[in-house]
Amino acid sequence: MATSDSLAKRLLGGNKRALARAISLVENDDPQGWELVREVYPKTGRAAVFGFTGPPGVGKSTLISALARARRSAGRTIGVLSIDPSSPFTQGALLGDRIRLSEHFLDADVFIRSMASRGALGGMAEAALQAALLMDASGKDDVFLETVGVGQAEVDIIDHADTIVLVLMPGSGDSIQALKAGVMEIPDVLVVNKADHPLTETMIREIRGVLSLAPQRGWRVPIVRTEAVRGEGVDELVGRLEEHREHLRGEGALSERRRRNLRSEVLGIAAARLRRRLEERLASDSEFQRMLDQVVDRRLDPASAATRILEREVEAEAQAEAEAEPT
Ligand code: GDP
Repeated sequence: MATSDSLAKRLLGGNKRALARAISLVENDDPQGWELVREVYPKTGRAAVFGFTGPPGVGKSTLISALARARRSAGRTIGVLSIDPSSPFTQGALLGDRIRLSEHFLDADVFIRSMASRGALGGMAEAALQAALLMDASGKDDVFLETVGVGQAEVDIIDHADTIVLVLMPGSGDSIQALKAGVMEIPDVLVVNKADHPLTETMIREIRGVLSLAPQRGWRVPIVRTEAVRGEGVDELVGRLEEHREHLRGEGALSERRRRNLRSEVLGIAAARLRRRLEERLASDSEFQRMLDQVVDRRLDPASAATRILEREVEAEAQAEAEAEPT
């Protein structure tokens, strides 16, 4: 397709508007977007992808803005993707992000984007990964994915990152509970922002307690104190992020981790497509409706109904195949 051809070319050339357009296509689940990703995918894998998560208000955006400043002065180009999966009404929050990142708006080598809509193909996590791939393809050296919260949906999104950073602040004890409860895997780097707060050391002791219970994986999770507004601790954080990257490279763990992330990506998209296909087929299926009636009447349990549906699907496919090749 001529238009997507030139869009791909402009995207690979680092054109900012082409990148913005490409992400919109993916976000809107436009087939052109997926085609574009297919085309530029072989050129991706170069960017360092960092995922930041943590409760709202801990200072993630401020921190990313400070990190972007530090990385820019080291000559690196930056992509930032802020995602809020928990609420369709994110305009306010995202506006806040935009303001905090505003010092970078005039810099052609910093690309900032918020994502709020779902992207129907495989959900938010997949749409976010596609957007990150597009940033990578457009030549951004560092991609920062930012998401609000520490629930499963948020973690799924930043799971695609090479390095995962959990940002907390003194008093945000709930998130430590999330770590303890295993809602969130132990991150690679922990940041306690607003470290000017008197409860900082208490918080750090608490985090150490949780980390000491976690299985050791050859990487000692550093806890970095920052004051993002004043830029305190940002250099140390940059150093820790680089160390983690070195660690991944050294152990051959980067490709292993990416393989794991891409595996869940492929499965995620496949599962979403299967579900969609199944729902489409069952929408006008009278036998399914009868089965559902039985479930409602407590004559058939849900698991048995699911088994029957799957058996029927397998049969239908076998039959379709047999009809396609009559040998
Ligand atoms: P996010 O929701 O995690 O992205 O948090 P923001 O970056 O929007 O920051 C929330 C508020 O905390 C803003 O008003 C920031 O100015 C403020 N803030 C960020 N970092 C610090 C810090 O280190 N110390 C203090 N006192 N305030 C901070």
